[in-house]
Amino acid sequence: MPKNKSYPFLLTTGIGLLFWYCNNFFEASRWNALVLLNIIQFLVGLLSTFWIARAYYRSHPSLKQFWLFLSLATSMSATGTFIWIVLLYFEQTMSFPTTSYLAWTGSYLFYFAALLNRLKKSSLGVSNATYLFNTMIYMITASSISYYYLLYPLYRIEQHSIWNIAFTFLFQLADLGILFFVITLFYLIQFNKKNHSLLFLITGLSLQVLGDVLFAQMNMESGYKTGGIVDFIWTIALLFIGFTALFYKDEQNERDVPPATGPYLKKEFIFPYTSILILSILMMQSYEWNLNALSAGWIIIFLLVIVRQAFTVLKNNTLLLELKKTAYIDVLTGLGNRSAFKQETASLFNNKERSLSFILLQIDRIKIFNDAFGHQVGEQLIQEVSSRLKHLDTMKVTIYRFSEDEFLLVLKNSSKSAIGKVKEHILMSLEDSFKLKDFELNIIAHGGITTFPDQSQTIEEVQLQTAEALSQAKQHGNHSFVFYDSELKSNVVRKLEMESHLRHAISQNQLAVYYQSKIDLKSGRIVGMEALLRWYHPKHGWISPIEFIPIAEESGLINEIGEWVIRTAAYQSKQLQLIGFDPLLLSVNVSALQFQNPYFCKMIHQIIQETQLDPQWLELEITESIVQNIQESVSILQQLRSLNIKTSIDDFGTGYSSLNVLEQLPIDTLKIDKSFIDRLTQNTSSPMVKTIIDLGLNLNLTVVAEGIETIEQKSQLESYGCMIGQGYLFSRPIDFDSFIHLLQNHPIPKEMSY
Ligand code: C2E
Ligand code: MG
Ligand code: MG
Repeated sequence: MPKNKSYPFLLTTGIGLLFWYCNNFFEASRWNALVLLNIIQFLVGLLSTFWIARAYYRSHPSLKQFWLFLSLATSMSATGTFIWIVLLYFEQTMSFPTTSYLAWTGSYLFYFAALLNRLKKSSLGVSNATYLFNTMIYMITASSISYYYLLYPLYRIEQHSIWNIAFTFLFQLADLGILFFVITLFYLIQFNKKNHSLLFLITGLSLQVLGDVLFAQMNMESGYKTGGIVDFIWTIALLFIGFTALFYKDEQNERDVPPATGPYLKKEFIFPYTSILILSILMMQSYEWNLNALSAGWIIIFLLVIVRQAFTVLKNNTLLLELKKTAYIDVLTGLGNRSAFKQETASLFNNKERSLSFILLQIDRIKIFNDAFGHQVGEQLIQEVSSRLKHLDTMKVTIYRFSEDEFLLVLKNSSKSAIGKVKEHILMSLEDSFKLKDFELNIIAHGGITTFPDQSQTIEEVQLQTAEALSQAKQHGNHSFVFYDSELKSNVVRKLEMESHLRHAISQNQLAVYYQSKIDLKSGRIVGMEALLRWYHPKHGWISPIEFIPIAEESGLINEIGEWVIRTAAYQSKQLQLIGFDPLLLSVNVSALQFQNPYFCKMIHQIIQETQLDPQWLELEITESIVQNIQESVSILQQLRSLNIKTSIDDFGTGYSSLNVLEQLPIDTLKIDKSFIDRLTQNTSSPMVKTIIDLGLNLNLTVVAEGIETIEQKSQLESYGCMIGQGYLFSRPIDFDSFIHLLQNHPIPKEMSY
């Protein structure tokens, strides 16, 4: 049977019409009509049982018991109706059929069992106390009403048989129990977006209870007549219970997950307050202000609601406090966070009389420690640092944790001597090594300082200025602290200006690639060329890549600019080959940011295809900083190798590489940094340079020395076994046309290229 959303409506209307027709137009053979209506009720019971039994067979094992109990309940209900029909038809009597009542009572027991089972499966995510409270209120309301209107009057009317009273009482109890579970189920269903078919069960059972109440009412007053509104309600109730199975979507891993907050908070108020409202109205209507079941229930509920309100207020306050805590406190260190800094410092800026200083302190290499030893060690380190810094309290310094590795210190004094003392104290407290687990770590700190009201007037300025001073401090060496001042200010302005101009540098043809030759030290022949970027700024003239590459990196422009360099250099290198020069190895510098771009290899591949440059003539120069993400870097290097592209570690010896890391990198060339070559000038021999060259050669790498300026340096390097050199001694970086001229004067034998 296909499921259609209009079934409930169509079937309910159809049955309703039938009841209405039989009740109004079958006057002549009323008895048959009544039997017919009871048969319909019976058939609906069978149909529901069939749907539920089918769900039982199809459902996930964990829900089988629920369906079993439910099908037993509906089948018992149908059995009760069947007995009723038989008695009605054969005995033509409306006497009290105890057997039917027994079957119906049995069906209630199974409804109970089914509901209990279903509730056990769903986790009661809402607070147990709230749930119990709401259910209690509802139950008190229901008991007061049923006692006052049904049981109490029944007791007083003598003609009711003891059986009648007993069954009515039993049904009342069962109904109350069912109501209890139905409410609970309704709560849970709020959190189960997936399966709304349980709403049918809730509706069905609620209708059943409604039918029972009306039945008891009629029984007491005028006497119940079969085939009427009550029977109609019971039939629809059964039908809806059956729909539960018909519309159920079986979910293997069904879980009722309550949202953290959400609609629950609003809905939880509906039940208690509607209960109070109903009871209050009924109580007024009874005009009895003496204590009876209704007024007693009302008073109890009233008190409960007041107590509950008090608890809610308390709970809200605690929640607010917790919220505040998480919003302003750094969980790891217990220090205030950036938001706390903003909130607490804002008022200090109002008083221009007072002077303040701010120190942005950065602990270096936290990321590397995290990567190398795990986050736990990194976190412990931060905790240890913060607890050492907390001693600054005595110097009236407030400390905030600003980011993963940054602390902001606020000092209510801006004199240089006070700041100097704080700085000394910081360095002293961080001086001793940190013993964490099995590691002993030494940390390096830098600081950026600004003052109020001299330099900064707002919180935003404090953040910008300390950050700028900090970035300067990092360039000054370990443990240095830099003050933000007017010189730094103009640097910032120039930097911002450059950034905005750099955006248009490509489109306005301000960029150019210069080439510097690489020489075979023995023969003096040119064997390679390094592409070096140049920027001609309309106002500032030629700007060094040392100045603008970091800006391009910070602003994200490096990807676009870097791609342009590789494309231009590859194209021009191919041009040289097309002119007739023998191929030279082209080296292009690549920033670590560019290298880690997920599309990097794809981009290189595309450029090779576009320019038709044979990839064996392309080498990418990367700095040692890539070892910070060693796994990712190795995989990119391997991808480049599979494209037949060479890679080189530039400025070797200045960065992070350790010897064992070098071994892991699938690279081709080692470029010794100029600072090592410089040592050869002062002191003609350098064991360090020799060691690096030996290391490279042992790892089967090509070793290139850069920054060679003198003949002595060249011969020393040669004697150490270094074969390739680059430097002003041979050629400065020159533009493409000049490089063509250079090549024309230096023919390159094929076997010389490396
Ligand atoms: P680098 O890759 O180490 O390039 C070598 C630098 O040393 C170049 O500076 C070069 O002109 C300079 N140089 C070469 N021989 C000598 C010498 O004998 N004496 C002296 N004093 N200097 C010498 P340049 O062109 O200013 O480039 C500086 C750095 O900028 C490069 O260092 C490289 O790291 C970066 N760079 C240049 N072009 C690019 C590029 O297209 N992309 C990226 N990401 N970085 C680039
Ligand atoms: Mg280079
Ligand atoms: Mg270099």
